[in-house]
Amino acid sequence: MRVRYRCRRVRDCSFKQQPAGLGRFRRLGRDIDHPPAQVEELSPGRGTLTEVTDNLAPTLELRLADHGASVSSAPVFARVVLPTALPDALSYRIPDEIESVVAPGHRVRVRLRGHSRVGLVVGCVSDPGIASERVRAIDEALDAEPFVPAHVLDLVAFVADYYAAPIGTVVRTAIPPVLLRVPAPVIEAGARAREVLSDAVGPQRELLERLLAGRRVSFARLQAEGFPASRLRALLVELSARNAVKVIERGAGQVPGTTVAAVALTELATSVRNDRVGRAPAQGRVLAFLVELGRPVLEAELIAVCGCSTGVVSELERKGVVRRFRQYKERAPKRWELAAPPPPQTLTAHQQAALTAFTGALGGGKFRGFLLSGVTGSGKTEVYLRLVAEAVARGSQGIVLVPEIGLTPALAGHLAGRFGDRVAVLHSSMAEGERAAAWERARRGQVDVVAGPRSAVWAPLPRLGVIVVDEEQDASYKQDEEPRYHARDVALVLAQRLGIPAVLVSATPSLEALQLAEQGRLEVLDLPERVAGGRLPAVEVVDLCREPPEAGEHGQRFLSRRLLAALGDTLARGEQAILLVNRRGWAPVLLCRECGHQASCQACSVPMTVHRRLRALMCHYCGARRDLPAQCPRCSGEVLDHVGAGTEKIANRVRELFPRAVVDILDRDTARSPAQLLATLERFSAGATQILVGTQMVSKGHHFPAVTLTGVVNADNLLGFPDFRGAERTFQMLTQVAGRAGRGERPGVVIVQSYHPDHHAVSAALAHDLPGFSRQELAYRRAFRYPPATRLVLVRYESERESAAVGAAAAAVRSLEPTPAALRVVGPAPAPIAKLRGRWRVQMLLLAPTRGPLREAIARIAALPLQRGVHRVIDVDPQSTV
Ligand code: ADP
Ligand code: ZN
Repeated sequence: MRVRYRCRRVRDCSFKQQPAGLGRFRRLGRDIDHPPAQVEELSPGRGTLTEVTDNLAPTLELRLADHGASVSSAPVFARVVLPTALPDALSYRIPDEIESVVAPGHRVRVRLRGHSRVGLVVGCVSDPGIASERVRAIDEALDAEPFVPAHVLDLVAFVADYYAAPIGTVVRTAIPPVLLRVPAPVIEAGARAREVLSDAVGPQRELLERLLAGRRVSFARLQAEGFPASRLRALLVELSARNAVKVIERGAGQVPGTTVAAVALTELATSVRNDRVGRAPAQGRVLAFLVELGRPVLEAELIAVCGCSTGVVSELERKGVVRRFRQYKERAPKRWELAAPPPPQTLTAHQQAALTAFTGALGGGKFRGFLLSGVTGSGKTEVYLRLVAEAVARGSQGIVLVPEIGLTPALAGHLAGRFGDRVAVLHSSMAEGERAAAWERARRGQVDVVAGPRSAVWAPLPRLGVIVVDEEQDASYKQDEEPRYHARDVALVLAQRLGIPAVLVSATPSLEALQLAEQGRLEVLDLPERVAGGRLPAVEVVDLCREPPEAGEHGQRFLSRRLLAALGDTLARGEQAILLVNRRGWAPVLLCRECGHQASCQACSVPMTVHRRLRALMCHYCGARRDLPAQCPRCSGEVLDHVGAGTEKIANRVRELFPRAVVDILDRDTARSPAQLLATLERFSAGATQILVGTQMVSKGHHFPAVTLTGVVNADNLLGFPDFRGAERTFQMLTQVAGRAGRGERPGVVIVQSYHPDHHAVSAALAHDLPGFSRQELAYRRAFRYPPATRLVLVRYESERESAAVGAAAAAVRSLEPTPAALRVVGPAPAPIAKLRGRWRVQMLLLAPTRGPLREAIARIAALPLQRGVHRVIDVDPQSTV
C-alpha cells in the first residue's frame, strides 16, 4: 500500500515521502520544496500531516503548526481543457473560496465566448501566459475530489503530445462526453438545517431560511435573489460540511433511472459512533451490520436484512453516522452474451507456465511486458482471464482490451460468468449514457475489471494492476480520427508509468510486437498446442490461375472444383462449412460492356459496390448510395457486368449449387447490431444453417465444433492493397481462419484459393509458420525501411480544391528543408485513394530511425498556417497509408 501524507488544513497539499527524508509538497499541482528541517517535524505524533492510505483512514490526526508558512499564496491560475479541438488548454483564475477544490483532475465550469462550458483542470500555474487582467475566473468547481485519476490525466497529456493531437480532443476521447456536460447543481436544505439555523446569524441565517422555505433551488436563482456569488460559495462549503445544506450535482454522470440508493458508514471513531447511536435498538442493528460487513450496502438490502424502516437510516444519517449515496445499478444481462461454459478445472503445463510468469509480475511495482502467443484454441483466453482474476483476488484491478466485444459474445459471457457485476463491459453500440455509467462505476470502485475496445484503456480504475490486450494485432486499436492513438501502444505506456504488467495476446502477433520481443522488451510465452488436443487442420491451397474461368466473370473463378467437391462432401456428411469472402455486397465493380465505364463514387475515387438485395450501388468508403442503373450513364449501353464477387454473390452461387443447404451471410450489412450478429451465430451454432458465408467477422473468436470445412474464396485481395502491411494482414487473416477450423473432434480442412500461392504470406500461413513469416517480413521491412524497422508519420492535406491540397503539401515539404540526414521524406504525392468524401488527398511519409527528427518535423508542420478549406492530418505510427 502506498502511503501519502496530506495536510489537513491546506487541502490538496500532499507530501510525498522520500527516502532521505527530504520532500516536496504538492499544492494545486505545484511542487513546493520542503526544507529538510521541517521534514523531521513531520514525524508521527508531533504535528502536521495526515496519513492518507488507500482506504483513506486517517491514522495521524495532527495539528497544522508551522508548515502553512512555507506555502506562499502566489496568485494561481488553472489550466483548463475544454473537450473541443482548441489547440491548447486555457488559463482561468482560481477564486479564493474554491481554491481548495480546484486541482488537476477536477472539473470546473468556465465561460468561453459567452457560453458556459465544463472543462477539466490539467494543471495550476502562477503565470497564466496572457495579461492576467484578461484572465477570467472559474465560475464554479464541480468536484470535491479529483474526478479524473492522476494516471489518466498523465496519459491524456502523453497522448496529446505523442500523437500531436489537440489536448481537448484527447479529453473528449478519454472521458465520456456526458460527464463533461454538467447542468448547474441545485441546493436544498440538509438534514441538520434546523439545528444549525437555531444559532445561525447574518447571511447564514438568511440562506437557511430561504432553503427551508422552499424546495430545491439553483445556484443561479439564489444569485438572482441577491446572494453574491463569492459569498454564496463560501457559505455553501461551510454549511454543507455541517450537513445543513445539500448541494446536489445533477448530471455529473448521473444517468436517470440507472442508480439505486446505497448506504455507507461515515468515518468516525468507534466510540463517537456508539455514543451517537446510543441505545436505539434498530439503529444498533444497522450499525452492527454495516461494521461487520465492512463495505457499503444497498439501502434496500440493508432494510431487508435488519428489518428496519427507511426512517432508521434517515435518523442515522441525521446523526452523521451513515451517509447515503446513489450507486449505479447492476447491469442487466445482455442479450448478446453467449452463455459461457464452466471454466476448465486444470490448466495445461504450458498454460500454467504462462500464468505463473504473469502472476509473478503482479504487484511488484515494476513494468513487465509480455507477449502471449499460441494458435487459436490453445487456451490463451483462459490464461488471461485467470491472470485478471488473480489480480482482482489480490485487491487490484484489470483492463482487458478487445477489438470489439460486441463481436465476441463468448468473451462477454466469460467475463460475466467470472466477474459478475464487478465487470464493466464497453462496446461500440452502447448509448452515451450507458458508457458514462460504466465509466462512473469504474471511477467509484464498483467494478474490478473493465473490458472493451480501445477506449477502455482510459478506464479510471483507481487500483489498476494489470492490462491485457487481446488480439493485439487488430487494426481497430488505432483510432482513425483525432487523436489518432493506438490503444495497444498507449496500454504499454500506461503499464510502464504505473509499474504494472501488460500482456499482449495474439495468435498472429503484429510485426511491432514481434520486434519488441526480438529486442527482449517483451517476454514471450507461447502455447504451442491446442488444449482439446484438436489438431491444426490440414490446409490446402488451390492455385486459381489453373482453374477454368467461370462464364461471364471476366476470366475469374470464385469457387474452384476442389472447393466445390469439398463442400459437397461436407454437406453429405451433415457437417458445416464457412466460406470467407473479404468483400461485402454482390460485386465490387459495375462495368459497362460497351464502353468500359466503371461506376465510381462521385465523392471518392473508388468504384462503387453492387448490392443486389438492396438494388443499389454503395460506396464502402463514404456510404453514398445510388439506385442500381439499368443503363450505362456514359453510353447508355444496356449490358452492365457485375465484376468480382462479394458475400452476396458467393452465397447466391452456393445456394444454386446446393439447393438443400441453408446458407446465411454474416457481414456488416447483415449484422448491424450485436443482437443480429448473435442471432446469426446462434442459428449456425444450433445447426439450423449449414453454410455461413461471411467477411472476416466470421473468423473472430467464435467456436463452432461442427465446422469441418473452411474455404477462403480469395486470399489475395489484401496482398494487392497498396500498403506495406498487406502481407502481414494476409498472413493474419489466413492464420485466423485456419485456426477456426477443426476445433471439434472431427478433423477439419481449410481450402485457400489464391492467384499467388507462392507469396510468403500465403505459404507461411498454410504451414502454420509464424516464426518463418516474421523473419521474412521483418527482413523485408528493414530492407525497405518500413515500420517497425523505422518510425513513420503520415502527413496528409485534404481539400475540396485539389490545387489547395497540393500547395499545402508542397509548403509542408519546404518547411522541412534542409532536411536533416536522419529524416526521409517520401512524397508529396496523391494518396492511393486520391479523393475521399469529396476531398482531394495529398500526402507524404516521414521516416526516421528514432523519434527525435520526426518530433521536430511535426512541430514545424503543425506550426504552418492552413488556408481555409484545407484540412491537415498528422498520423503518428499510421496503421494504413491509404
Ligand atoms: P484461445 O484464446 O487461445 O483461442 P481459449 O482460451 O478460448 O483459446 O480456449 C479454447 C477452448 O478450450 C475454450 O473452449 C476453453 O474453454 C477451452 N480450454 C481452455 N483451457 C482449457 C484447459 N486447461 N482444459 C480444458 N479446456 C480448456
Ligand atoms: Zn464515396
